[in-house]
Amino acid sequence: MHFKELNLIPPVIKAINKAGYEKPTEIQYQSIPHILKGNDIIGCAQTGTGKTASFAIPILQLLQQNSSAQKNIRTLVLTPTRELAIQISENFKIYGAFLPLTHTAIYGGVPQNKQIAIINKGVDILIATPGRLLDLMSQGCVNISQIEILVLDEADRMLDMGFVNDVKKILKKVPEKRQTLFFSATMPPDIRKFAQTILNQPKEINV
Ligand code: AMP
Repeated sequence: MHFKELNLIPPVIKAINKAGYEKPTEIQYQSIPHILKGNDIIGCAQTGTGKTASFAIPILQLLQQNSSAQKNIRTLVLTPTRELAIQISENFKIYGAFLPLTHTAIYGGVPQNKQIAIINKGVDILIATPGRLLDLMSQGCVNISQIEILVLDEADRMLDMGFVNDVKKILKKVPEKRQTLFFSATMPPDIRKFAQTILNQPKEINV
C-alpha cells in the first residue's frame, strides 16, 4: 500500500514525499478513506502510530477541495496539552506545505495577545486546549460557529485531566451539522458513551 492509492491530491502527496514517508501506517490506511468520504470516526490509537497525520492529511484535503471564500475557522482540533497542540500544529504545517490553508495553535501558559493577533488575520484550522479556547471565546476573539470538522484528540486524557465541562461547553457552540473525528488511546465505557453523544454513525477504527 502506497499513499498514492489513497486518492490524495498532488499537493498533499508532494508534502508527504517531502516528509520522507513511503507508506501509510495502519491507522492512516484505515482512517483516511473514511474521513475523505465525510464519515465520523471513533479511533482507538496510541500516540506514535501516526495518528496525527491520519486526521491532518484528509482534513487538509477536504478543506482544499471544498474551498471557502470566507475567512472563518473551518476545523477545530481539541487536545489536552500544550505539547500536543504544538505537535499537531507541526503536522498541519508539514502536510499543508503546498496548500494555501492556514492554521495556528492556542494553549495556556503564554500571553494571549500573539494568539489573538494570528486568529484575527484568519485561520482555517485552529488547534486548541479547552481552557484557552474558552477564554478567547468568552472575550469574543474566537468564533467556532462555522466549524465543518471537529477533532477530539486524546479524548481519554482530556477527560482525565478534568476538561469534561470545558469540552461540553465548547461542543454547545459548534454546528450540529459537522464531521467529527474522535480519537482516544483507551476506550472505557464512559469514554465510549461520551463519544456516542457527539458522533453520527461513526466508523470504528482500532489499531
Ligand atoms: P503520532 O502518532 O501522530 O504522534 O506520530 C508518530 C510519529 O510517526 C511522528 O514522528 C511522525 O512523524 C511519524 N509518522 C507519521 N506518519 C508516518 C508514516 N506514514 N511513515 C513513517 N512515519 C510516520
